[in-house]
Amino acid sequence: MKTIGLIGGMSWESSIEYYRIINEEVRDRLGGLHSAESLMLSVDFAEIETLQMQGKWDESGEILARAAASLQAGGADCVVLCTNTMHKVGDAITQAISIPFIHIADPTADAIKAAGVGTIALLGTDFTMSQEFYKGRLVSQHGLNVMIPEDEDRATVHRIIYEELVVGEIKPESKKAYLQIIERMVAAGAQGVILGCTEIGLLVKAGDCAVPVFDTTLIHAQAAVDFALAD
Ligand code: GLU
Repeated sequence: MKTIGLIGGMSWESSIEYYRIINEEVRDRLGGLHSAESLMLSVDFAEIETLQMQGKWDESGEILARAAASLQAGGADCVVLCTNTMHKVGDAITQAISIPFIHIADPTADAIKAAGVGTIALLGTDFTMSQEFYKGRLVSQHGLNVMIPEDEDRATVHRIIYEELVVGEIKPESKKAYLQIIERMVAAGAQGVILGCTEIGLLVKAGDCAVPVFDTTLIHAQAAVDFALAD
């Protein structure tokens, strides 16, 4: 088994989910007492969030590149960045390591295509929904048609992530708001929805929606296990 290197802390509410899912997957696939060989390097989210708000992506890229290099030096065979948003600095990370970087958008796009879905709604932070680093990859590298919420709905999705989900607050009214936004996007043509923030799966579950749900935390963690257990 290869060792999975995880950059966590963004936020730790979802890093826990990655840790749980990769261990459950390894147990389910190998049986018995098997568990994942992994390393997690967790950063201080307050520092990262401040840099996000200031638009200082180069500085956060340096922090995460150092984290990735430390994971490699510690024996990791791959790097998994446990957040969608910070894939904005994915290039800084890949330049700092010689082991594979498992980009969260790639296994997500593969799952969407395998489900026969072509037009997909994307929910995440405003950075992820509005900027090209994520959406653009889904469109140009994977041929998907990506829809994002209208301005007001985008602000709601973003606010709930930063004010509630990253501090572990799961509120029924916020779940209702998310489901209404998803319904509006389905009515506008979305055939499925990407939970493109690693905390959204804490609020919205697959069974809550009428269309297929692609939870990036689950898909990314499963992709890491695929890598770890491949020959
Ligand atoms: N975990 C979130 C994501 O997947 C948001 C926190 C962050 O800004 O990194 O985008």
